Amino acid sequence: MIRLLVNGTLLTQDDSLPVAQALAVKHGRIVEVGGTDEILWLREDEYEVIDLGGRTVVPGFVDPHNHFSIAALEVFWPDCRMADSIEALQRTLAKAASETPAGEWVRGVGYDHGRLPGRRHPTRADLDAAVPDRPALLLHYSHHQAVANSVGLAAAGITRATPDPPGGEIARDKAGEPTGLLFERAMSVVETASRAGWETRFVEVARAATLRYAALGLTTIQDAAVSPATARRYAEARAAGALAIDVGEIRVGSTGWFDPPDDAAPGAPLKLFADGGYRCAMRLGDRVTGFLFYDREALAARLVRAWRDGRDVVCHALGNLGVETAVGAIDDALARERAGRGRVRLDHAMFLDRTSLARLVDLGVGIVVQPSFIWDHGGRSPAPDLMLRPFATARAAGLPQAFSSDFPCGENSPLLGIQAAVTRRTRQGEPSGLEEALPTEAALRAYTVEAARAAGVEGDRGSLAPGKRADFLVLSANPLECAPETIKDIEVLQTWVEGRPILVRP
Ligand SMILES: [Zn+2]
Repeated sequence: MIRLLVNGTLLTQDDSLPVAQALAVKHGRIVEVGGTDEILWLREDEYEVIDLGGRTVVPGFVDPHNHFSIAALEVFWPDCRMADSIEALQRTLAKAASETPAGEWVRGVGYDHGRLPGRRHPTRADLDAAVPDRPALLLHYSHHQAVANSVGLAAAGITRATPDPPGGEIARDKAGEPTGLLFERAMSVVETASRAGWETRFVEVARAATLRYAALGLTTIQDAAVSPATARRYAEARAAGALAIDVGEIRVGSTGWFDPPDDAAPGAPLKLFADGGYRCAMRLGDRVTGFLFYDREALAARLVRAWRDGRDVVCHALGNLGVETAVGAIDDALARERAGRGRVRLDHAMFLDRTSLARLVDLGVGIVVQPSFIWDHGGRSPAPDLMLRPFATARAAGLPQAFSSDFPCGENSPLLGIQAAVTRRTRQGEPSGLEEALPTEAALRAYTVEAARAAGVEGDRGSLAPGKRADFLVLSANPLECAPETIKDIEVLQTWVEGRPILVRP
């Protein structure tokens, strides 16, 4: 059957026909895009005409850096993002312990030390008071640091004699005892152990999670940290038909989110972390802070190896020193491996200087950035020659720039991300680099065509054009015409995946 959707306002994101009124869909693909009369001519023996009543249609949103596997499981763990005291965290964890099946780690997610009195991180003692007799882990909202209780530390074998791993730190008190707080790579063992049991229930929660994503307009995403164990859960979920949207996998190692995979299958993109997340590698004047995971040479060697093994690379680089190191490594690797190389992209690039930006443009290496971090955290550049999330500057320089959420580290809604990029304002209305605001058209492109390109699916997704997969949304308002501060309130009325409406609001 051919379906003819007519009388709409289609923002196609396709340069050959940017605005259209109608489209025809058959066998999961877009057959034609054009004017209503033109599309009505395509009626076949079996057909359905759907009147869009003037509503706006856009391609399904693509999120090339999401953490679906973590987000799906978070229904099991209490959300601690809004906790504003240690006592509140303790109450939440004690309650979670009473609801956690025997044998599992108690987990709480998302605490924000900025909300706690004195901006103090919780300690093992704080957690021991709430959960004394079984392992517990409380994750920071960044997912780059965490606090374990005493049983948890013992279970992971972390004692005062344990050295800091490269790229991480075990926080210690004056007497040298671990405080429970684990930064970056130091949290890998505990985090992996605390999630393992819960992951066996992934299939059970995956379908509902994909439908929550679809309700926000997401039709294709990439999970930016898939361990070999998580990959097995994805295989189960696909076999069970539990994924209602398309989820791609970016591989990490079996030992933790921040470690590269030793055995990823050819074709699967793999993740290389140049630096930390919350403690990213920064250079301010002659002061260097944060964690750099590799030097330029070691990172270049890993890149070349990945390409020779037939893998694309997603390079995480957040601080200006992380970005500088990653750009240098990519530069060296491209010079060494001219033919047959895979793709490479740079994710986050939160602190960018003009030298790194210009080099990325020259190399043709795109970035994947997170506009919703503006909504949650705002912020301003720590130095005059350093730019914080310079979306407009990157666009003007011709740097390919895709949007993503990094959910659950940032807000999942693409429309909220688009609003944040256009207004450059936080939830509280505070400005954060107004000069870097994007026009709505550009922000929409960054979450559709540009995001599809970053995910390597631009031949098939990201715009409304004949031959592409029929993934699209019907919106309650046109983002190009509504007030910028109301873009996040636009409702996704219908979400279509492969030519079928998987979600329709009354
Ligand atoms: Zn991430």
